[in-house]
Amino acid sequence: MQRLCVFCGSSSGKEPGYAADAAALGTLLAERGIGVVYGGGRVGLMGTVADAALAAGGEVTGVIPEQLMRAEIAHHGLTELHVVADMHERKATMARLSDGFLALPGGAGTLEELFEVWTWAQLGLHTKPVGMLDVRGYYSRLAEFLDHTVTEGFLNHATRDLVTIDPDPHTLLEALTHHTPTPINKWAV
Ligand code: AMP
Repeated sequence: MQRLCVFCGSSSGKEPGYAADAAALGTLLAERGIGVVYGGGRVGLMGTVADAALAAGGEVTGVIPEQLMRAEIAHHGLTELHVVADMHERKATMARLSDGFLALPGGAGTLEELFEVWTWAQLGLHTKPVGMLDVRGYYSRLAEFLDHTVTEGFLNHATRDLVTIDPDPHTLLEALTHHTPTPINKWAV
């Protein structure tokens, strides 16, 4: 794992614990020598992860669409900043540059990014690991819902298991790092 793509909120959440854990993740990735790839902004948890990784001597690559340079306040202190034409190019670039994906808490954008890379894995378009860091139990109800989709016959176990959800950044990182790509038959529910 050389570079991990971190999806996260352009907000910081109500509780300071979200930012604290985002910063701890940034520091941990830098200490492990794992570069961060993210949306390139300075706002919310995005900025927090980037600043913490940079402060700990890590490499941080941002990918931001021209149109969001102002809204998300592009971070100009990064190792690299790619300014791209649109959201599609942003997501494709982030995916190409990364060896795995991790979601911190976030809103619609974060969920969309996470679900897209998960569904790409489901279709065999990539075999990179996907995880959610369950900070303050943020994703535990989503995890329950995903199990419900399996119970109800809309998702198979193998596809569900493509996403690792864990509250501990060390454990999650271990799981992502030692991920063994498994071929998925999406059509077997
Ligand atoms: P949010 O989780 O909504 O705060 O957004 C987090 C990041 O996702 C921000 O960098 C947004 O620009 C980005 N984002 C918003 N909408 C989308 C989308 N449809 N696809 C991918 N990323 C998005």
